[in-house]
Amino acid sequence: MSDKTDILIAGGGLNGTALAIALGRAGLRVTLVDPLPAETRGDRAFDGRGYALALSSQRLLAAIGVWREVAAQSQPILHITVSDGRAGEGASPLALEFDHAEIEEAPMGHMVEDRVLRPALLAALAGTEGVTHLPGVSVADHTATGPDVAVTLSDGRRITAELLVACDGKQSPTATRAGIGRMGWAYGQTALVCAVEHDKPHNGTAHQFFMPPGPLAILPLPGNRSSIVWTERHATAGAIAGLDDAGYLAALRPRFGDFLGEIRLAGARFTYPLSLSVAERFVGDRLALAGDAAHAVHPIAGQGLNAGLKDVAALAEVLVEARRRGEDIGRVDVLRRYERWRRFDTMTLAIATDAFNRLFSNDSSILRLGRDLGLGLVGRLPGLRRGFIREAAGLTGDLPRLSRGLPL
Ligand SMILES: Cc1cc2nc3c(=O)[nH]c(=O)nc-3n(C[C@H](O)[C@H](O)[C@H](O)COP(=O)(O)OP(=O)(O)OC[C@H]3O[C@@H](n4cnc5c(N)ncnc54)[C@H](O)[C@@H]3O)c2cc1C
Repeated sequence: MSDKTDILIAGGGLNGTALAIALGRAGLRVTLVDPLPAETRGDRAFDGRGYALALSSQRLLAAIGVWREVAAQSQPILHITVSDGRAGEGASPLALEFDHAEIEEAPMGHMVEDRVLRPALLAALAGTEGVTHLPGVSVADHTATGPDVAVTLSDGRRITAELLVACDGKQSPTATRAGIGRMGWAYGQTALVCAVEHDKPHNGTAHQFFMPPGPLAILPLPGNRSSIVWTERHATAGAIAGLDDAGYLAALRPRFGDFLGEIRLAGARFTYPLSLSVAERFVGDRLALAGDAAHAVHPIAGQGLNAGLKDVAALAEVLVEARRRGEDIGRVDVLRRYERWRRFDTMTLAIATDAFNRLFSNDSSILRLGRDLGLGLVGRLPGLRRGFIREAAGLTGDLPRLSRGLPL
């Protein structure tokens, strides 16, 4: 059996699904393939992450009709506090503070849990005309031949498309098959992720404590709950992950501190080994890479998905404009417009997050002093501080239409 589609997307994670919706709404025929059954991806216990979504991501979700579903279960980020810390000692007094009122577009972002965002995207996908969703099968092979790319699925089905988009994660089997190499390394760190309930309100404040083994982020969720991204060296993380809930909380408390009162686990615990992985090219023969398949970065700045959603916005805009002009959407010079748009931003993000992690995840007293002075200095320069806030909100650079909340 052989089917035909305009664009085949390998990978129905958050980025692949958002891209399918954006392209389908713009009138393209899209087929989305993912090896995991839809019920598994839509299960509220599938992934424990809570995402700090920048304003640009919120605008994209609004433009593709998903934000309304998510908004009621999101938490605006009103304030960010960044400081050095050590387990048992609490935060350094030289904290850097960012307040949402410093930019006119405030709030700078929202926290949205995966268990809210992923089902909302899947529901929107099911209601998008022109999109065929094939869960439970993977892309097994592809060959670009003249005007088409022939894709073979794991169940033997064959589909021809004008373009294949790889949204298949940081190991991207599709990019590997196309001979696209990757740069990067493992960080030797694992992120322990969970949600906690606490006695006192967080007032919309996100905290980032830079501990010697890695950052501890305490991110506000609706109600008296916070999402924890707690980075440790692999061995320590493995030992902590192996503890029962009481032991896990006993390890977390001295790192977390008591500023939110008593804390309790609110749901399951998850672990994510961390690595940097950037593709050498974002495009190939009738192929484009987006999301983690193009660039997976350290979560220290909470920007990986935000960057992926900007890829989605830029790629959708390039493809829809090309189609309207009657161009071949799989031609490499069309795809290079997307690569040029996203390559510099994503490389800068990869380098910055890598450098931050090196600078902050250690216990050198000289670096610690330098960091504290640096945080204090940025805190005293309102212009620089506002620049950081606009960057975190995703409002800098040449923003694609969807990232500005505009239709394609
Ligand atoms: C601890 C942690 C916290 C984070 N916090 C934030 C945050 O606060 N803000 C933020 O912006 N980002 C954050 N990120 C980053 C964010 O989670 C990722 O960038 C994002 O989830 C990547 O989504 P994706 O769709 O590109 O890839 P993935 O989620 O990896 O999805 C890839 C999909 O491809 C499928 N697949 C694999 N092989 C094939 C194949 N052969 N054929 C078809 N499909 C295939 C897989 O089944 C999967 O569904 C965080 C990351 C971590 C680890």
